[in-house]
Amino acid sequence: MPQFQIPTEQWAQVVEKTGGPSVYKKIPVQKPGPDEVLINVKYSGVCHTDLHAMMGDWPLATKIPLVGGHEGAGVVVAKGELVKDIEIGDHAGIKWLNGSCLACSFCMQADEPLCQHALLSGYTVDGSFQQYAIAKAAHVARIPKECDLEVIAPVLCAGITVYKGLKESGARPGQWVAVVGAAGGLGSMALQYARAMGLHTIAIDGGGQGNEKAQHCQSLGASAFVDFGKSQDLVAEVKAATPDGLGPHAVLCLAVQEKPFQQAADYVRSRGTVICIGLPANAYLKAPVFNTVIRMITIRGSYVGNRQDTQEALDFFARGLIKVPFKTVGLSQLGEVYQLMHDGKIVGRYVVDTSK
Ligand code: NAD
Ligand code: ZN
Ligand code: ZN
Repeated sequence: MPQFQIPTEQWAQVVEKTGGPSVYKKIPVQKPGPDEVLINVKYSGVCHTDLHAMMGDWPLATKIPLVGGHEGAGVVVAKGELVKDIEIGDHAGIKWLNGSCLACSFCMQADEPLCQHALLSGYTVDGSFQQYAIAKAAHVARIPKECDLEVIAPVLCAGITVYKGLKESGARPGQWVAVVGAAGGLGSMALQYARAMGLHTIAIDGGGQGNEKAQHCQSLGASAFVDFGKSQDLVAEVKAATPDGLGPHAVLCLAVQEKPFQQAADYVRSRGTVICIGLPANAYLKAPVFNTVIRMITIRGSYVGNRQDTQEALDFFARGLIKVPFKTVGLSQLGEVYQLMHDGKIVGRYVVDTSK
């Protein structure tokens, strides 16, 4: 078994008050509890959730001070005495669900994200924007050794979440799915997972420079691109993008705006399903009762994924089916990534390298 030298101090990004900023500083390295592992995080993806957490956007308090991050890929360097099925030196991932009780009625049915005792990485417990992070061994993602830790990091939240959302949508191979927020982190993954699952996609996004977002979505496999900023009639345009003009069978709502959540029920096909995944601050769902009833529309939420979804999502990646462009910067530059994210200027995903 390899031995690792574990330092007593490490670099981290710490949110010291709600609203930010996140401060790059040295903090102590913690020791794992009996059922936990300590992961030397090499790379971490930056999810819009990390920005929501820092800004206090949601009706659920974060810990303070807070180390954000929940797409952390690294190496297990220490473990508690109860941990039997993962070894020092194994590759593992810190994901949003850091731990859960494994005993409640939700955990018993593999709905562990719904556990009332769930621990959330980078929200209720410190996450992966540090060099050494802790998670419950039962919940860390098992990353195959042949997978590149830098490339796989965004799969640990964005990938798992959209894969689960596509499954929840019930869309079958050959059908059409609209992806709202398609050029962002989750959206880019959604286009790739959808293609791998045999689905056609309509990408909806906008802004950015020139045709950058449209080209990005098309390169990831989208059959059509609708610009929410330029379109005169978005509902008509989305419907027209399907071969029979009746609209997509499912919609994945990933945008950080309220309006697209309201529009989705208008263009989804009759009998179709709207899956809500994005979490804009203070937003509400609104759909006409009449049309929802007589067109038999389903509107539902989807929240990350369980341990099985995690391993399935990683398996798609390991088979080479998921390739999403990303940019890597140092952990010290996290603030700049948040600014780009706030301005809607990110195409694909940003990953931070914890060594700089
Ligand atoms: P991101 O910033 O990378 O992407 C958001 C995209 O939405 C951007 O490309 C933006 O241009 C686009 N957009 C903005 N307004 C739009 C509109 N009106 N129509 C279409 N597109 C629009 O963010 P991300 O990291 O992909 O996260 C997206 C959301 O998903 C966040 O709210 C995040 O908290 C949430 N999230 C939810 C879960 C879950 O389990 N439900 C998991 C992870 C993330
Ligand atoms: Zn996330
Ligand atoms: Zn539970």
